[in-house]
Amino acid sequence: MAEVALTGVGKVYPDGTRAVTDLNLAIADGEFLVLVGPSGCGKTTALRMVAGLEEISEGEVTIGNRVVNRIPSRDRDVAMVFQSYALYPHLSVRDNIGFGLSLRKLPKAEIRAKVDQAAEILGLTDHLNRKPRNLSGGQRQRVAMGRAIVREPQAFLMDEPLSNLDAKLRVQMRAEIARIQRDLGVTTIYVTHDQTEAMTLGDRVAVMKKGELQQVAPPQELYDRPANLFVAGFIGSPAMNLLQGTLTGDAANPRIEVGGQTLTLPGEVLADREGLRAYLGKSVVVGIRPEDMEDAELIDAADGARLTSTAELVEAMGSDVLVHFAVEAAQVVTEDTKELARDAGTDVLGSLDAPRTDMVARFSPRTRV
Ligand code: ATP
Repeated sequence: MAEVALTGVGKVYPDGTRAVTDLNLAIADGEFLVLVGPSGCGKTTALRMVAGLEEISEGEVTIGNRVVNRIPSRDRDVAMVFQSYALYPHLSVRDNIGFGLSLRKLPKAEIRAKVDQAAEILGLTDHLNRKPRNLSGGQRQRVAMGRAIVREPQAFLMDEPLSNLDAKLRVQMRAEIARIQRDLGVTTIYVTHDQTEAMTLGDRVAVMKKGELQQVAPPQELYDRPANLFVAGFIGSPAMNLLQGTLTGDAANPRIEVGGQTLTLPGEVLADREGLRAYLGKSVVVGIRPEDMEDAELIDAADGARLTSTAELVEAMGSDVLVHFAVEAAQVVTEDTKELARDAGTDVLGSLDAPRTDMVARFSPRTRV
C-alpha cells in the first residue's frame, strides 16, 4: 500500500486533444479516492496515466515515493479493474484469479492459498471450478476483483467497474467494494460518472470538468460547500436548484430578488457581510437544495425567506415526492415527504429557512455577477 500523488499532471493526446490539465491530487495511504465527472472530462485518462497505460505529457506521478513516469505498467505494482471484466473465457475462476501470480511463477501452493483467501473474501469459494460464461455479471465482476486482490498491489485502480451491472446488483457490489477496500486498506482510485457511487464510496471525491479538477473534498463537504456552480449542479440528485437573482438592500440587511419575489437572507448568510457587500445591486445565483425547501404551512409565517409558486408537476418516487414548480424561467424542484404530497395546481411556498441555507450565502456572492 502506498500514497499515490499526481503533481501538475497533464495529458495531450498525439492528435492534439488536451484531456487533462495541471491535475494535482495526493491520495493518502489506504484512502479511497473517487474521480467523478461527466463523460469526456478526462477521468479515465488520469487513471490510465497512474496505471502506466497512457504516457504522461506533463507533471509527475508518484506511487509510494517512487516517480513512475518512466516505469512500465507491469512494474508499477498497481492492479486495474475495468468495466469489461477482461476474464479469460477458457480458464476456470481459480485460474483467472491466479493468472497474474502464475505469470510471476509463484509456487503453486502459494497461488492456491492466495486464491482461496480471495475467493473467501469475495464469496466465490463455491464457484472456483466454473468457467466465466457460467457466472452471473456480479460474480464475474468479483472474479475481476479477485485477480486484483491476489496481487496485493500498492494500489487498486478501478475504471467504472460496476457500469455493466443492473441497478440492483450495482448497489450490492458497491457496498461490497466499500467493504473489501476497508478490510484490505488498499489505496484506491475509482473512476465513475455516477455521483451517487462517488458520494457513497469515496473517503474523498475529486470532481473534474473538461480536464480540470474542480474540487476535492469528503462527500458531505462537497455537498454542503460546493466550490463553484459546476460542482453545485453536478453533486446531488435531484440537482440543486439554481436561480438567477439580484442582491438588493444594504450590507446590514441584504435581500435577494428572485422571480419578482424578495427573499430575506437567513442568519448564516449574514455572517459573511464583507463577501456580500461586493455583490450588492448585482446579479447572483441562488442555490437551494430541493430538501431545503419546506412546506409553507410548517414554517413561521413571519419569515421573509419565502418563494411562492404553484406546483406544476408532482412526481411520487416512493419514499419521496418531488414537486416541480416554476419561478420565472427556472424550474424548481422540492423534495417533499409523503404526507405533504399535493396535486399539481395548488400553491407551494418554498422556504430558505432550512439547515443548509448557508448554501445561499456561500454560493450566491461567488457566482455570476
Ligand atoms: P468517459 O466517462 O466517457 O469515459 P472520461 O471522463 O473518462 O469519459 P476520457 O476518456 O479520459 O474521459 O477522455 C478525455 C478526453 O480525451 C475526451 O475528449 C476524449 O475524447 C479524449 N480522448 C480519449 N482518448 C483519446 C485518444 N486516444 N486520442 C485522442 N483523444 C482522446
